[in-house]
Amino acid sequence: MIKIELLEKDKKQKKLSFVLKNTNAAFANTLRRSAIGEVPIMAIEDIEFRNNSSALYDEIIAHRIGLIPLTTDLKSYNLPDKCKCNGKGCAQCQLKLTLKVRGQGTVYASELKSTDPKVKPVYPKTPITKLLKGQKLELEATAILGRGKDHAKWCPGLVYYKNMPVININKQCKNPELVIEQCPQNVFEIKNNNLVVNKDNLLKCHLCNACVDICEPKGAIILDNTNKDFIFYVESWGQLSCKEIIDEALKIIKDTSNEFIKEIKKKPVKKKASEK
Ligand SMILES: [Zn+2]
Repeated sequence: MIKIELLEKDKKQKKLSFVLKNTNAAFANTLRRSAIGEVPIMAIEDIEFRNNSSALYDEIIAHRIGLIPLTTDLKSYNLPDKCKCNGKGCAQCQLKLTLKVRGQGTVYASELKSTDPKVKPVYPKTPITKLLKGQKLELEATAILGRGKDHAKWCPGLVYYKNMPVININKQCKNPELVIEQCPQNVFEIKNNNLVVNKDNLLKCHLCNACVDICEPKGAIILDNTNKDFIFYVESWGQLSCKEIIDEALKIIKDTSNEFIKEIKKKPVKKKASEK
């Protein structure tokens, strides 16, 4: 059975790490891909410019605004293709934000006025452009839910994993000082004249094999990276919490698996004799 052991949870830094135990690379990668590619978040998709006398073209400003992370409320909004309006656009699948500024000075993301207080820029101090005296920027933007597989602006964060390092020191290593010096992550230390693994730093090991290569005699250190445990790291861009990203990713895996089973259980369509 798959087990999870929490390593670190930092809400302020929007980071989470955990060990996924007793699984395989296929599942670990499915979880990663589901999290970065399938979990929907809000981002601005369409912009109607009313006035733009800034130094930047409409397209550049539109691109910059599209990449501004917006806090996402998954309970109140649907993906356009799953909405009752069939993607035409309604209050359940999109929302408007407006911007109206007159120079001079820097235009910040905080000046985007949202019609829903739950959806607003995560980082208010994100600069959009600079205006000179008298220059104007006025626009209306439409934000929708989307998936990271369609555009990076809908990717909720960084999700990656590595194999759990298991280091076995078999024989007496003849050059422990060199091994300690070569390891970039300070995984080793000397205790009672013996080379041992520093347990506090073990998880920092990124399986570079420097210790295996430098240690004399050969084979004294064995680095096992083929076990069934994986260390996962989640860093949110701010639209959703790390927990929401993983919860939603797992829900999507479950839903698609159920759909798959349903399709398999269907009776095969009988072909007419003429089609055979
Ligand atoms: Zn709709």
